[in-house]
Amino acid sequence: MQQHCDVIVIGAGPSGACAAKMLAEQGLKVVVIEKELFPRFSIGESLLPQCMSFLEQAGLKKAVDAAGFQHKNGAAFLKQGQYSEYSFAEKFTEGPATTFQVKRSEFDKILADQAAIAGADIRYQQQVLDIEHHVDNVTLTINDLNSDEQYALSAKFIMDASGFGRVLPRLLDLEIPSQFPVRQAVFSHIKDHLPSSFDRNKILIIVHPEEPDIWFWLIPFSDGTSSLGVVAEEKHFNKLGSLNNEALLWHFVNQTEDLASLISQATVTTPVRKLVGYSANVNALYGDRFVLLGNAGEFLDPVFSSGVTIALKSAILAAPLVAKQLNGGAVNWETEFSQPLRLGITTFKHFVISWYNKQLQDIIFYQTSQSEVKRMICSILAGYAWDQKNPYVQEDDRRLKVLAEICAQ
Ligand SMILES: Cc1cc2nc3c(=O)[nH]c(=O)nc-3n(C[C@H](O)[C@H](O)[C@H](O)COP(=O)(O)OP(=O)(O)OC[C@H]3O[C@@H](n4cnc5c(N)ncnc54)[C@H](O)[C@@H]3O)c2cc1C
Repeated sequence: MQQHCDVIVIGAGPSGACAAKMLAEQGLKVVVIEKELFPRFSIGESLLPQCMSFLEQAGLKKAVDAAGFQHKNGAAFLKQGQYSEYSFAEKFTEGPATTFQVKRSEFDKILADQAAIAGADIRYQQQVLDIEHHVDNVTLTINDLNSDEQYALSAKFIMDASGFGRVLPRLLDLEIPSQFPVRQAVFSHIKDHLPSSFDRNKILIIVHPEEPDIWFWLIPFSDGTSSLGVVAEEKHFNKLGSLNNEALLWHFVNQTEDLASLISQATVTTPVRKLVGYSANVNALYGDRFVLLGNAGEFLDPVFSSGVTIALKSAILAAPLVAKQLNGGAVNWETEFSQPLRLGITTFKHFVISWYNKQLQDIIFYQTSQSEVKRMICSILAGYAWDQKNPYVQEDDRRLKVLAEICAQ
């Protein structure tokens, strides 16, 4: 039996749920196909203040505010005893200065439930297997993971929000290699037993003492647990042979005195997971009756917690355009979606490159009183990567290089 709807959204993560809610509210028949059953674990737990305005625009902020998530007001960095913190209240760009640190199982379920309340038909444990373009619709082959039966679902438009599943990039051969080397992340939740003097309102990024390209995140939640993870290039993991994930995590932690002493009482509360080679790119973010949202398009790197913010921005940009196109309007996906989205992605990309070549680390650990430049850097760390009034939001990394040279001197 073939079923029809206006829009199929693949994946009920932040970008999919946000887009589905906005379109269902327009009266469109929206079906969300989600492989997992929610709540489910997902990584990406430290939000940026910029995404609060996106949640507000989508009518999702109230539900998120009410959930009791850990308040977040800045980012802190630690390297061999040097501590540097950025308080988002001091950012250059106007807009929210606080956000949350969230368990994604809870956060994603809240957003998906809001999409369902708005009228989206969310179908869990359904996996998209294939796509076919026809003259008057696009048809997906879907496997119902409960019954293991396949069925066809057609729509006028497909939004791929499948994250690391990257459904359409794979099926339509859109994938191109990321410019970043293959890195791995090993992570878990811990009962943290952090000292009472520890500032739980900030993500803490800790740099490995000998290898500045190895770094850790510590993201406190509101219930006495934290997310802990280490990121490193494959070569650093390969040297260690066949250690299991938990042994790998503690191996790197124990090499890093700053962190090891901070979490000396910690115990692991969830399985220690590993993700390999998550950076990804595509040759186009849109095509014939489809668009790629969030991680299904480009994913850079976890270091500046930009993933959910970019995912929500992509949904906020794309949903009105889909509605316009389905109502017979002309949409220029290049100038109205791809270019505006890529502006912020490019800003973050320069920051990621600069982090790993150490220039940004020199800037971040340079001890200075508040300056206009620090406020501009702070804005990017808060996610305001689309504010063209900020000179650090642009397509070249010359400014970061010059600033790093000044700080290094
Ligand atoms: C190690 C690491 C740490 C990170 N830390 C942060 C952070 O602190 N802050 C931050 O903002 N971001 C972080 N990120 C990025 C963040 O995880 C993502 O950018 C964000 O989750 C993207 O949202 P999304 O909606 O695009 O996709 P996702 O959240 O990945 O959702 C995609 C959904 O699609 C479903 N799906 C996949 N394949 C199929 C299929 N075939 N059929 C149907 N459904 C399917 C999946 O089950 C999933 O529910 C991190 C990433 C990594 C790798």
